[in-house]
Amino acid sequence: MSKKLLVLGGTKEARELIDRLALCDNVETTASLAGATKAPLPLAVTARSGGFGGVVGLKKYLQEHQITTLIDATHPFATQITANARHACEASDVEYLRLTRPPWQPSNADTWYQFADLSQAIAALPAGARVFSAIGSKEAARLSSRPDVFWVVRALDAELEAKVSDTCQVIIEKPRTRVEDEIHLLRSLRVDAVLAKNSGGSAGYNKIAAARHLSLPLYLVDQPKNTAPTERVFHSLDQLLEMIR
Ligand code: NAP
Repeated sequence: MSKKLLVLGGTKEARELIDRLALCDNVETTASLAGATKAPLPLAVTARSGGFGGVVGLKKYLQEHQITTLIDATHPFATQITANARHACEASDVEYLRLTRPPWQPSNADTWYQFADLSQAIAALPAGARVFSAIGSKEAARLSSRPDVFWVVRALDAELEAKVSDTCQVIIEKPRTRVEDEIHLLRSLRVDAVLAKNSGGSAGYNKIAAARHLSLPLYLVDQPKNTAPTERVFHSLDQLLEMIR
């Protein structure tokens, strides 16, 4: 019997998973995106976009589309959709699997300050510092709680400039794909520290490597706790595909 899969995406890992699932026999895959990115790259399977309407809406979707397995491949910090997915699966008797990234680990050459949440990390920054923020646009407004810090905010939201304070420079771009380019950026901005989420994975790692190269301290927010049973959580795409097969 073929499986009907729903992949919750929005990450590089989800895209890789979808590419592999598109080649698998006996699985019918639908991808789901939050709809925040205005022109997402095309996906190799049928895709839908936009919220489901909380747990109730997601449960209804799972039932109506006879989904057998939901694969949550959302970002480690996308906690709301992950909680909703777990509840909806439990209530609908749908298999829940999580594909996620282990957090980055410091090396001896790093100066890391690690915090349980973003508020603590923002509060700990030294007064008067120039800080490069890589936390994205969703929570950028929270940086204004520290008007004594000069922020350089990198994000993808072109309207961000209007949402953040005057003590701020906004750079609308994706993380740079070469470490040398991240080093060049941080050096040219003359920042004293970097604020980031410990997202793990390869896509955002270059800023961590660049901060190490320039001996800049990193203020890192820990990943939210993963509450799914360990046998349902995968860091390896191959192991997850093995489980599905
Ligand atoms: P979130 O706070 O956990 O979710 C907020 C709401 O957005 C959810 O309740 C859900 O709406 C909807 N949603 C989120 N992901 C969805 C998906 N894949 N398909 C359909 N609806 C989805 O999520 P977020 O932090 O705003 O992240 C949104 C998306 O961006 C996620 O897909 C995530 O993978 C990606 N992303 C997040 C970050 C980050 O730092 N948070 C970074 C990079 C990429 P309903 O309740 O109406 O269903």
